[in-house]
Amino acid sequence: MFDITKIRKDFPILDREVNGKPLIYFDNAATSQKPRAVINAIVDYYSNYNANIHRGVHTLSQEATKAFEEAREKIQHHFNAARSHEIILTSGTTHSINLVASGFESILEKEDEIIVSAMEHHSNIVPWQMLCEKTGAALKVIPMTQQGELDMKAYERLLSNHTKLVFVNHVSNALGTVNPIKEIIDKGHDYGAAVLIDGAQATPHIKPDVQELNCEFYTCSAHKICGPTGVGMLYGKEEWLHRLPPYQGGGEMISEVTFEKTTYADLPHKFEAGTPNIAGVISFGVALDYMNQLGFEQIAAYEKTLLDHATKRLREIDKMVIYGTSLQKTAVISFNIEGIHPYDIGSILDKLGIAVRTGHHCAQPIMDYYKIPGTVRASFSFYNTIEEIDLFIEALLRAINMLS
Ligand SMILES: *Cc1c(COP(=O)(O)O)cnc(C)c1O
Repeated sequence: MFDITKIRKDFPILDREVNGKPLIYFDNAATSQKPRAVINAIVDYYSNYNANIHRGVHTLSQEATKAFEEAREKIQHHFNAARSHEIILTSGTTHSINLVASGFESILEKEDEIIVSAMEHHSNIVPWQMLCEKTGAALKVIPMTQQGELDMKAYERLLSNHTKLVFVNHVSNALGTVNPIKEIIDKGHDYGAAVLIDGAQATPHIKPDVQELNCEFYTCSAHKICGPTGVGMLYGKEEWLHRLPPYQGGGEMISEVTFEKTTYADLPHKFEAGTPNIAGVISFGVALDYMNQLGFEQIAAYEKTLLDHATKRLREIDKMVIYGTSLQKTAVISFNIEGIHPYDIGSILDKLGIAVRTGHHCAQPIMDYYKIPGTVRASFSFYNTIEEIDLFIEALLRAINMLS
């Protein structure tokens, strides 16, 4: 069903060695590796039809424009957006979130409130703080529980007619918890709030349907879904994209310019100032094709076997603490060994060819909650194997031996 040997051949980087050992890449929550189809699409664009898009009458420009807009449609269909102009191409999740936050500056008033979760990535906290400072609105935080789940009772207590925007990640990058976003969206709507979901960490494992979710906004980064860095998308409901003012001024986003007055272009171009990452967007589409060919259900089922095996093996280790034990989890494990600094474990694993992440994972509030400086985070992808996990456990035991 899932031919792992064949899949691994699609990823050239998996052949390399690190410090004389075969690479074992368990840092997929930071960025995924890229299949040859995506690398080839980038090379093909620059080798054969590199040109600026939308404005050109010449053949290359028409070819590039066609490929770019076809990629937008692939993204639209992947997320099941009703209209292709509801897909705004951005440089990634951070850009998408800032675009929405900046747009809300003209919507929010002093009495208004924004709700975010305690489980957010830094890129999801700072823009809302800046927005609250500018508008006088208040920022409320949904607390989390010891298992690393959102406290939904507390969420309901925070909601009121002052709530204008709710912002939650679909999956936590530090803990892997899959949040109950449908419930969060529906409850937010009961109070007339708009809901923005950060899908950066969910989209490598789950295929979201934005119409079924009925969220106002959804965002992701291509580089976590086998695509290139510097590209991402913002889905927005048409009416909301009309309500928000343009984010940046520049070429592409205007319809007419005089020194007296500029009129803005229609959606989606209103939010796409300047020359975009053309090769990046085209290869983002190729990455989605690649993932869909494997099938998201198959990916999720395979990754669950990796997660279950790794969790079981890690639990056998003395002084092991695993953070985030929700039953709804993607293949991410954050852990510490009591008395050993996560950084020291990460360094020894690297010497043994194994890439994990150590630190606060851009989610300092979660670390503060558990009163720890950071964790070791192993995050798996569909191209990882049970054998790699066993080698990782062996290496980890060696590291613990050396450090205790
Ligand atoms: C990676 C990540 C981001 C930031 O994405 P960029 O591609 O760096 O903009 C935001 N939120 C979550 C949950 C993430 O995992």
